[in-house]
Amino acid sequence: MLNYRLFKEINDLFASGQYRKARHLLMEVQSRCIALRDEISLLQVRLKTLEDAAVLKENLEAKDGFYWLFTDTLRQGPFCPHCYESEGGLIRLERSHKALQCPYCHATYAVMANEEYQEGSAVRHARIIPFAR
Ligand SMILES: [Zn+2]
Repeated sequence: MLNYRLFKEINDLFASGQYRKARHLLMEVQSRCIALRDEISLLQVRLKTLEDAAVLKENLEAKDGFYWLFTDTLRQGPFCPHCYESEGGLIRLERSHKALQCPYCHATYAVMANEEYQEGSAVRHARIIPFAR
């Protein structure tokens, strides 16, 4: 913790001509500032992690045994329930034949043939890209 009385002490030392002591105290203040800067950086990372977790919790929904992430207009997923429940990781399941498989833990989940488990909630349609003229 930075003690602000040190600034007055340094000022008094300079005023009385004790430059060596003043310089030593300045170095101590510098060291404490660096330690505070490191602590602030660590706390900023922790705050960002907690904010991200809060946003995730707010927008994550369990449905049909899978986890889905909802944004403004899009549904992302499905995400592996095993990975999320055991490690908190959001790993998107990949379609392989008539099953969904986790590329991380390799868990396999059977799905019904008519179920749509694609990226996003909307069924994908071909996008027409006009030729350049
Ligand atoms: Zn998994």
